[in-house]
Amino acid sequence: MSVEETAGQGGKEAMPEGRHEAVAKALIEAGSSFRFCPACASPRLISDRGRRWICPDCGFEYFHNVATAAGIVIIVGGRVLFLVRAREPALGRLALPGGFVEPGERAEDAALRECREELGWAPDSLEFLASYPNLYPYKGVPYATCDLYFRASAPGLDPDALDIDAGESSSVKLLELDDLAWDLVAFESTRRALRRHQRAPLA
Ligand SMILES: [Zn+2]
Repeated sequence: MSVEETAGQGGKEAMPEGRHEAVAKALIEAGSSFRFCPACASPRLISDRGRRWICPDCGFEYFHNVATAAGIVIIVGGRVLFLVRAREPALGRLALPGGFVEPGERAEDAALRECREELGWAPDSLEFLASYPNLYPYKGVPYATCDLYFRASAPGLDPDALDIDAGESSSVKLLELDDLAWDLVAFESTRRALRRHQRAPLA
């Protein structure tokens, strides 16, 4: 499978097959984590690839759908703003401001809300960058997500003046992507979004 990408240099970016398999495998493994029907307590609950649960006794059906998350690549004088994660998953690794979209919320508003919550500040405007699939394991349950990435330029931002949410992040770092230790980046989807940004930097 490949996805036509319109920004940057154009052309096609192949979707690594292994990534899809990893997501599917993790969901199948999670299939056994729910044992009883939440409606009638039947122990005969059936998992369909960890994406759907069906109860043959009462007809209950539940879909473990893809969750939407949104994040922002904030560019400060040619460097990118990262948060060092203070919680699992990926404790101590680098992430972008962002989080899950809430019911009834636009992805743009979710990205800005999460940014405000995590930094005490948010940019005035955003530009859509790209979306990538991700796997977010939380307390033994894997969530397949679709992560939407936006970007914003904040040339005068002073990282020392930010009001960091200590429950989410331990510190802020402004880093050059050319020197980045990519394996310290928390999520595969973030690495792909940053590579995409590198190929088509903001004017
Ligand atoms: Zn049932």
